[in-house]
Amino acid sequence: MTSSIEHYSVIIVGGGQSGLTMSYFLQQVNLSHLVLEKHSIFHGWKHERWDAFTLVTPNWQCDLPGLPYDGDDPRGFMTGKQTIAWLERFAAKVQAPVKEGVTVNLVTQDDQGKYHITTTDGDYTADQVVVCSGGYHVPVIPRMAERIPASVQQLHSAEYKNAKQLPDGGVLVVGSGQSGAQIAEDLHLQGKKVFLATGNAPRVARFYRGKDVVEWLDDMGYYKMSVKEHSLGENVRNNTNHYVTGRDGGRDIDLRQFALEGMELFGQMTDFDGQNLLFKANLADNLQKADNTFNNINSRIDAWIESQGITTDEGPSQYEPVWQVPLERTQLDLAESGITSIVWCIGFRPDFGWLDAPVFNGQGHPKHDRGVTSQPGLYFLGLPWLHTWGSGRFSGVKQDAEYLCGIIDQYGQQAIEKDELAASA
Ligand SMILES: Cc1cc2nc3c(=O)[nH]c(=O)nc-3n(C[C@H](O)[C@H](O)[C@H](O)COP(=O)(O)OP(=O)(O)OC[C@H]3O[C@@H](n4cnc5c(N)ncnc54)[C@H](O)[C@@H]3O)c2cc1C
Repeated sequence: MTSSIEHYSVIIVGGGQSGLTMSYFLQQVNLSHLVLEKHSIFHGWKHERWDAFTLVTPNWQCDLPGLPYDGDDPRGFMTGKQTIAWLERFAAKVQAPVKEGVTVNLVTQDDQGKYHITTTDGDYTADQVVVCSGGYHVPVIPRMAERIPASVQQLHSAEYKNAKQLPDGGVLVVGSGQSGAQIAEDLHLQGKKVFLATGNAPRVARFYRGKDVVEWLDDMGYYKMSVKEHSLGENVRNNTNHYVTGRDGGRDIDLRQFALEGMELFGQMTDFDGQNLLFKANLADNLQKADNTFNNINSRIDAWIESQGITTDEGPSQYEPVWQVPLERTQLDLAESGITSIVWCIGFRPDFGWLDAPVFNGQGHPKHDRGVTSQPGLYFLGLPWLHTWGSGRFSGVKQDAEYLCGIIDQYGQQAIEKDELAASA
């Protein structure tokens, strides 16, 4: 517990890759700062990923300042353990001033522009605050879960580790986004009887015409495109990530193939009526839309290859469904199904309730311009599409932190001069 109130130029809330990347750049400009982390650094990577987790993005996109990926498999996909080991090396390099086990409970700004930060470790003040608390705060579990019998074990994707933590019997995975599709695959590969309630998440090929699709899209400039240049503008932040995997060197996730292998697929889950799980009759639509996105991306790559006169061993191709929905099933008797556990994979909602500042939209998402808010001295870093596709990932946080550091340094120097002037007055 701090005895007297410590003042810093910058307080960073959150000790993940964003918080430590921000510290890296603030050290370059000698601005005093402190990182406050409620758990331990990289908590999400250490405690909220399943055992067989593997990065979805290729290793060459792991680009943190001072320690870009330096292993011998740049086109591979690090496992969860390898990712943590790399992040620990990054932390050792950055030597950020971090206080772990400290929760920020309230941040306010006074009339003089100074920030007051109330924590479980006492109070701090700062000239500026950078919010690096991620975007995955509150696991989303719908109210219908309360009506599911207690005999059915329920958990959120953030708690899922492996099939052994679940009781014998079938498992229902709700949601086919990036985590839901990978967790359904993991359970399927471990021999569990999987029931999957799909959503409208798109999918993408892992490899196409000899290269990782991520590499083609990078060649096409997709990852340099800013949110301002994107055809959807800021609405791109509402997009669901494409399902694919980096597991075992990387491959597609084809839910139709899993159905051929015995996985039971359904449309979007809507309710539980006390006996039956209820689903929308939109399974065929969900699968078709996901495949359309898969094929559209490949077609854009075809056009790029042609426009650049690139020769590839493989020619253009389109995915042909290996399984068709025989019948849309809109209800499933829970007792008869043999389902004994449910994994909710429908995401997280943001919770910035501790930040008392007029910078949020109706959905609770911060309004900012590349992380800079309308409130002087308040910034965000590490949010999906904060500036580019990579902003919420390992590939773009460095550029965003460096950009913010330029602004923070200028503001910081002015704040210091103001204080010195006040002190000398
Ligand atoms: C399942 C999953 C898979 C992903 N896969 C990839 C991938 O393959 N490739 C990729 O590049 N990216 C991936 N990401 C995206 C991204 O890299 C991660 O979300 C990453 O953890 C974001 O880092 P961050 O530092 O911005 O936020 P976080 O890692 O979420 O860190 C925020 C920190 O803030 C702390 N915090 C929050 N509130 C407070 C408070 N009030 N007081 C103090 N501390 C607080 C939290 O404890 C947390 O440690 C994935 C994300 C998820 C969820």
